[in-house]
Amino acid sequence: MYDVIVIGGGPGGYVAAIRAAQLGMKTACVEMRGALGGTCLNVGCIPSKELLHASHLYEQAQSGFGKLGIKVEGVSLDLGQMMKAKTQVVRGLTKGIEFLFKKNKVDYVIGKGRIIAAGHVGVTDADGGEQVLATKNIIIATGSEPMPLPGVDVDEKTIVSSTGALSLAAVPKHLVLIGGGIIGLEMGVVWQRLGAKVTVVEFLDRIVPGVDLELAKEMQKLLKKQGFDFRLSTKVTKAERTADGVRLSLEPAVGGDAEVLECDTVLLAIGRRPFTVGLGLIEAGVEVDPRGRIPVNGQFQTNIPGIYAIGDVIAGPMLAHKAEDEGVACAEMLAGQHPHIDYNCIPGVVYTHPEIAWVGQTEEDLKSAGRAYKVGKFPFMANSRARAVGDADGFVKILADTATDEVLGVHIIGPDAGTMIAEAVLAMEFKASAEDIARTCHAHPTLNEALKEAAFAVDSRAIHA
Ligand SMILES: Cc1cc2nc3c(=O)[nH]c(=O)nc-3n(C[C@H](O)[C@H](O)[C@H](O)COP(=O)(O)OP(=O)(O)OC[C@H]3O[C@@H](n4cnc5c(N)ncnc54)[C@H](O)[C@@H]3O)c2cc1C
Repeated sequence: MYDVIVIGGGPGGYVAAIRAAQLGMKTACVEMRGALGGTCLNVGCIPSKELLHASHLYEQAQSGFGKLGIKVEGVSLDLGQMMKAKTQVVRGLTKGIEFLFKKNKVDYVIGKGRIIAAGHVGVTDADGGEQVLATKNIIIATGSEPMPLPGVDVDEKTIVSSTGALSLAAVPKHLVLIGGGIIGLEMGVVWQRLGAKVTVVEFLDRIVPGVDLELAKEMQKLLKKQGFDFRLSTKVTKAERTADGVRLSLEPAVGGDAEVLECDTVLLAIGRRPFTVGLGLIEAGVEVDPRGRIPVNGQFQTNIPGIYAIGDVIAGPMLAHKAEDEGVACAEMLAGQHPHIDYNCIPGVVYTHPEIAWVGQTEEDLKSAGRAYKVGKFPFMANSRARAVGDADGFVKILADTATDEVLGVHIIGPDAGTMIAEAVLAMEFKASAEDIARTCHAHPTLNEALKEAAFAVDSRAIHA
């Protein structure tokens, strides 16, 4: 009899399993993929960041090094080797989780998990045999899958999801992204750097929904400079395969005359939806909301006692670090502890170049809530480190409460924004004021000085701008 069985070995599930075992619970984690790490390690965060890094270096070697006086001749692409390096990174990290399971005495059960009822999980192995495991608690951590679009059939060759886009056999001549969200743009950037023409078709009148609008507009401007083409307020109604690639039918989002866009590869990236296929939720009586998410209370408990859910399969941003924090918190609650997650302090990052990173409220959020706020902005053009490394596009924007000066949101578009945001997250976790950040000594010359200056700018007293 287990204390906990976690179904799904992604960042939510494997972290929950390790934390539960650390707390003395007899724990198993059931995973059907054949590798631990979930979407994130296998076909998400890690392979995409590896390719973003490699393609950035390729682009720099081609056109960035020259202005620093570094002559590089005969730069060429070995796509096969680039993909091999990506696979090696993924394999190393997934094997690392197997090691952590052994170290923490988590049983790794390979197979597809099914909830028979509270207290019983069936696991079907590759040969179709099922074993039934008994447990006091079940944590569902089965993650998410790409959202389909009627009329656009993904074959992972010419019409791909993000999974196919991580392993294309050749650089497309013309890649069309259906959807201007984070995952699509990151993959588009990879292939654009490697030589593809990239067109983004987006239903909304803006890219990266949810990101502060001012930063989204700046990102669109910078990506346009890098060669991206944008077709906003436009919908794709059909995708037909032709001898040379794909013919897409487009229409204005509000309706109107149709037109055709030809390309050789399409990436469908219009979002993700919870994955619960074959999990036995209906049979076990576990409720699901109209969007396929599993509703949970503040203790991650579903409507059925003894069954919990975390990560992409429940509400909230579909992010690996959100899933991990929920994994830790859920295990600690099962052990009788009282952890807390502040969902207002979960950062988001777009790993393009420059990066976007944010935490807390956007200006649009604050306006719609009718909250009075002050804005402090500081451009990287005035940051000495950004200038020294020749990477000075973008700015930091801090939003603070007009009356109390409490930091309500921090939005960064610029070099290494994803790393810089950690300071802002910590500040917000401790309910810092903008003045707290401004009066904190920041090492010079660092990119983070831009955050300090933006905090000064909230009070209209930035030193270097
Ligand atoms: C291309 C891409 C890039 C991304 N980049 C980032 C990023 O940079 N940063 C970030 O924070 N997030 C990123 N994400 C999102 C991130 O991957 C997810 O938010 C995260 O993986 C969710 O974790 P999870 O544990 O909830 O689910 P998952 O990681 O999806 O793991 C669920 C696991 O459960 C298994 N499973 C499902 N059903 C069963 C079953 N019945 N039995 C056994 N096993 C089952 C699946 O095989 C899977 O391995 C990215 C996603 C994609 C697609």
